[in-house]
Amino acid sequence: MTLDLIACPTCGGERVNHALACGTDGCRFMEMVCYRCNGEGVVPRAMEQWIADGERLRQRRVEELPYRNQRTESARLGIDVVRLSRLEQGLEPGGAALLEMEAIP
Ligand SMILES: [Zn+2]
Repeated sequence: MTLDLIACPTCGGERVNHALACGTDGCRFMEMVCYRCNGEGVVPRAMEQWIADGERLRQRRVEELPYRNQRTESARLGIDVVRLSRLEQGLEPGGAALLEMEAIP
């Protein structure tokens, strides 16, 4: 099986993200292993679509009335809230199918 890979859109292929970490000795920037590519620097090309679908999923949730938080929305869609969070970030496939579900009646 060949995988079509692209540079990770989150870390730009650098394999790490920079995040401000605060502790008892103050705050500093730390390098964190990229959450999207797990430090690989590349992701499957299909992830571009997952990200686009996830963004639409998130937009639908926050723009439709009444406003729905992730917990409310995951219950409505019948999925785990952790999965919804990952879908909205485009970390896994499946957002497209949820987008096809009807809007709230
Ligand atoms: Zn990355």
